[in-house]
Amino acid sequence: MSRAVAQSRKLDAASSAAEATPEMVRGPSGLLGRIAMSAIAVAVGLVIVFAVLFVAILSLRNRSAEAARSQQVIATATQLQTLVIDLETGVRGFVITYDDRYLDPWRAGQEHYPAAIETLLRLTDSNRMQHARARSIKSAIDTYLRTYSRPLVDFLRRNPKEAPSVATSDRGRKQVETIRDRFARFLATEKALSAAGKDRARATARHALKVGGAGLGSALLLIFVGALYLDRAVARPLRLTAEAATRIAGGDFSGRLPTRGPGEVGQLERTFNAMAASLERTLADLAVRNRTLAESERVKSELVSNVSHELRTPLTSVLGFSALMLDRDLPPADTKRYLEVIRTEARRLAALLNDLLDLQRVEQHTLELRLEDVDLNDLLAAQMTLYSAQSEAHTLHFLAAGEPLVIRGDRNRLAQVVGNLLSNAIKYSPGGGEVEVGAGLIGEDVSVWVRDRGLGIPTDHQDRIFTKFFRGDVGREHGIAGTGLGLVLARQIIEAHGGEIGFHSEGGAGSTFWFRLPAAEQGDGRATVSERSLAAGDDSESGHRM
Ligand code: ADP
Repeated sequence: MSRAVAQSRKLDAASSAAEATPEMVRGPSGLLGRIAMSAIAVAVGLVIVFAVLFVAILSLRNRSAEAARSQQVIATATQLQTLVIDLETGVRGFVITYDDRYLDPWRAGQEHYPAAIETLLRLTDSNRMQHARARSIKSAIDTYLRTYSRPLVDFLRRNPKEAPSVATSDRGRKQVETIRDRFARFLATEKALSAAGKDRARATARHALKVGGAGLGSALLLIFVGALYLDRAVARPLRLTAEAATRIAGGDFSGRLPTRGPGEVGQLERTFNAMAASLERTLADLAVRNRTLAESERVKSELVSNVSHELRTPLTSVLGFSALMLDRDLPPADTKRYLEVIRTEARRLAALLNDLLDLQRVEQHTLELRLEDVDLNDLLAAQMTLYSAQSEAHTLHFLAAGEPLVIRGDRNRLAQVVGNLLSNAIKYSPGGGEVEVGAGLIGEDVSVWVRDRGLGIPTDHQDRIFTKFFRGDVGREHGIAGTGLGLVLARQIIEAHGGEIGFHSEGGAGSTFWFRLPAAEQGDGRATVSERSLAAGDDSESGHRM
């Protein structure tokens, strides 16, 4: 079993090593790759969002600049118009009063006019029609100044008496009205343009706000999706792994992780599962070893106490009688009797030693069977003769089958089993009596039974009869010697032959022990002697079969 565990561990280690190949760790589906991919996706999304925002802000800025320029155009045109009126009113005042102070606004108007008209022309640069209108205004003003206003002032300075006749002329007023008409058209168009520009700016602002809101929402969504992905792909598996590790630290090795994580996370999950499985197996293995160790400790101490007890009785007899013979001069008859006792006790010691050695061989799987065709009629008859001589108080009856009972088995080991059953039947019938031995062919099996009318086995002891060193109370109460090993070995031997052993007993009413072995097949061509290893049975399994 431990070899199987070690092998499966090796396989685990090999598979874990195979799983942890560098390709997997550094592969394109690696954790780093996925984090980089999600970061790049979020970054690209953010760049797009900010580009759209930038374009929206730029267009808003253009619209605002357009609106501001329109306002500037209107202001400049209005200023120019005032300037033209100043030119006209200055000249008119001078014509009426001939007072040079009235020419101050006229001079100032001429001084500011070039810059103002330049500004207007520059501001209308981008609008072809308004630019043309501005130019026509300029040419009208220039014409007015060149052909009327300046020549008139020069003329009056030279001919002041002509003033009343000039004052009645409305040529200048007409020219100025024409200029004002042009201004009116220009300003109306510019105001319309300005209103439209404001509307567009407002619409663009609304649009920019919407784009900004959508961009902000998309950016937040992207960041949220990225964070969610990282949580699912990395944080959650790590959390689960940490929880499972905590459970393992608490002694629960049964939990396993789902192995769907990407790259290194999946690798971590698989390695974790392999580790948990290996720990679980190691723990189970240790528990089995612990039980085995505890059991073997118990058996050892039981063995020591049983063996020492079983050794003490014959050794006491051997020591006591040998001391008696050495210390005293005994008559030859007594000496012979004592030597007989010493030999019997020495035989008991030898039997105990043999049983212990057999038990050791069974437990180390080294007890071998030398198989041959054995007629159980002969084997039983020989054992009957042997054991009949052992007790005068008992009568042994053999109910022969009247047909050959050939089985394939180890003659000596089967003789050991029959001998143990006969010896028990005699031992546990201390008052003497009849022991009946029978055998027969039942179906494919040869069946053997040994019946006594002795002490029987109390019901509460019956399920432990085949347990190592179990002796029950009956034997001890009646001072019957034994080791509690005979039936254990008998069961191992019978089961190694492919048979079964069991008993039926009633406390105080005797016992019947039986065993069944498969009959040898007719014309069996197998070798007469072969070897077969005897497997150790589970001694803790103590139920009897009937
Ligand atoms: P041992 O006889 O050396 O004690 P065994 O393994 O042969 O060991 O038997 C185990 C126990 O089974 C005995 O100690 C005894 O209590 C009980 N037992 C075996 N055979 C009989 C029997 N024929 N009658 C009554 N008790 C028996």
